[in-house]
Amino acid sequence: MTEKPFDFMEGLTKKELIELDSCTRCNECLAWCPIQDVTDDRDASPPARIHAYKDFVERTHTLKGKLFSSGKVTAEELKSFKDSLWKCALCGTCGEVCTVGIDTKKLWWSVRRKLKESEVGCPEPLEKGPLQNYHKFRSPFPFPLGGKYKIWLPDDIELADKAEIGYYEGCGCTWDSPQMAEGAVRLLSSVGPFTMLDPDQSWCCGFPQLTGSGEWSIMAELVNHMVKAIADKGIKQFVISCPMCLDIVKYLWPYFYGEELPFEPLAIVELLAEWAEEGKLKFTKQIEETVTYHDPCAMARPFMGKPIIDAPRELLGTIPGIKLVDMDRHGKLSRCCGGAGGMRAVNSDVSANIAKELFLEAKRTGADTMLTNCPPCYLNLATRTHAAPNSVVEEWRNYDDPLKINDITQYLAALL
Ligand code: SF4
Ligand code: SF4
Ligand code: SF4
Repeated sequence: MTEKPFDFMEGLTKKELIELDSCTRCNECLAWCPIQDVTDDRDASPPARIHAYKDFVERTHTLKGKLFSSGKVTAEELKSFKDSLWKCALCGTCGEVCTVGIDTKKLWWSVRRKLKESEVGCPEPLEKGPLQNYHKFRSPFPFPLGGKYKIWLPDDIELADKAEIGYYEGCGCTWDSPQMAEGAVRLLSSVGPFTMLDPDQSWCCGFPQLTGSGEWSIMAELVNHMVKAIADKGIKQFVISCPMCLDIVKYLWPYFYGEELPFEPLAIVELLAEWAEEGKLKFTKQIEETVTYHDPCAMARPFMGKPIIDAPRELLGTIPGIKLVDMDRHGKLSRCCGGAGGMRAVNSDVSANIAKELFLEAKRTGADTMLTNCPPCYLNLATRTHAAPNSVVEEWRNYDDPLKINDITQYLAALL
């Protein structure tokens, strides 16, 4: 029996196929792409990637392709395309500036998912680990959930058994950036009672499925479990630190749940900005500082939801001693930190160099501190943690400068 050839079109939407045919090679996106900033690797540019995949589709699906080419894509071509596809932080900036409106962020994600089904799969560090871990631990990280709050939940913070406000830190905060979760719960508890899911019930949100390193098949089980656990706690507002989690919970969970969620998912900075405006969130300590805010890609250019750009600025604006200055590139066009899209695991040297570019942009504002609010940003900018360290990463780790970097909730919790 002959094996069915890999189908490059199957599973892509009509819109995505039209987008593959739409790139004019105007090269506008190259000026904004963080990878191009630090590598000049044109094979890893959006137009190169779009035209390469379009060529695969044409070669294997059109009469012209079959008549005038081999009608096949070689393993070598596929491997080189995979390298290009994963040299991308999924920051979405190319889509934001694309002159013909290609939604590149969704396109890269769809093509990553497609490629995972092919003979080349996804990069080795992400190939099996996240899914195997999910089946064992219900999170992409290789640790049991049961003791996870012990890592970061301070002893003096009390969780209500049930409450209308529920906090979700997401696996990224627990295992990678616990400082963010600690800051968040300190701020929440200063205003009133809140609850969290029991740790072994607090599964992953499902974000790894989007990045192409997991499986869609687990989503229905995951979402139904989480929605029930949240409802059982009486939660009406589900407050989330990680912007990727928020995007998934708010915009993807209803699809798998089959109806509207019985609670409102929202970003921690949105709730805190509202509370600060209403006078519920009070700070007792004084500060005199110039601060710049890095809009994480997942907030400025989310996969599915609306950008969250004003809330962190409104929140900081309620504190008299803080002077907020924006970087040249901020809001929807903020620079990427290089920490997401699997970059720290797959291309850690490129990731570290991108982080440094953002750091230098923040320095040009003259700020004392750069704040952000996303686990990969925190890792790449503040703790500078990479799965595969190398000399470039080491240089970034040792880069010393008076500009401080912090998570916005950790920073504000110190002012309570
Ligand atoms: S998503 Fe970001 S990193 Fe990836 S190609 Fe576009 S601009 Fe470059
Ligand atoms: S901006 Fe859009 S059309 Fe122009 S090269 Fe980039 S992806 Fe292609
Ligand atoms: S972004 Fe959501 S998914 Fe990532 S690891 Fe986080 S909790 Fe799990």
